[in-house]
Amino acid sequence: MDETMDAASCIFCAIIAGRAPAHRVYEDERIVIFMDLFPAHEGHALIVPKRHGENLFGVEDEDLEAIMRASVSLGKALRAVFAPDGIAVMQLNGAAAGQTVFHYHMHMIPRMAGEPFGVHGKNRADDARLADQAARLATAYA
Ligand code: 5GP
Ligand code: ZN
Repeated sequence: MDETMDAASCIFCAIIAGRAPAHRVYEDERIVIFMDLFPAHEGHALIVPKRHGENLFGVEDEDLEAIMRASVSLGKALRAVFAPDGIAVMQLNGAAAGQTVFHYHMHMIPRMAGEPFGVHGKNRADDARLADQAARLATAYA
């Protein structure tokens, strides 16, 4: 993957189109929310606009508004399901900032006091676990 990745070779576009699997929490006409495959913490989810834009500077205003509204709804669901001490909202722009998938996405990561901080997990999560988390978050999402 590089910073010139287009929609045809984009893993998130493949997920949005249903060509690649993901554990979805929520979807509407503008956005989709699914579990991060390499979670930095249990409950780590991504809010992704359906329209491909590489980073913050390539996303339509209406999509940014939808993402920001969704972050409140997802934040409430994360609180209800995981009862975290805090929730980190992260969004990386450019490889130099740590971005690895060049289709805009907002990370929402439950945090517990005293735990080391990170955006990227080391291990691929178990699918059954992610499916269970996505289902619980979907139920709590409002
Ligand atoms: P970035 O580093 O670009 O801000 O974050 C990309 C995120 O996407 C990472 O946290 C990574 O674990 C996640 N990710 C990469 N590939 C996949 C995938 O195929 N499916 C899902 N659900 N998450 C992915
Ligand atoms: Zn894409």
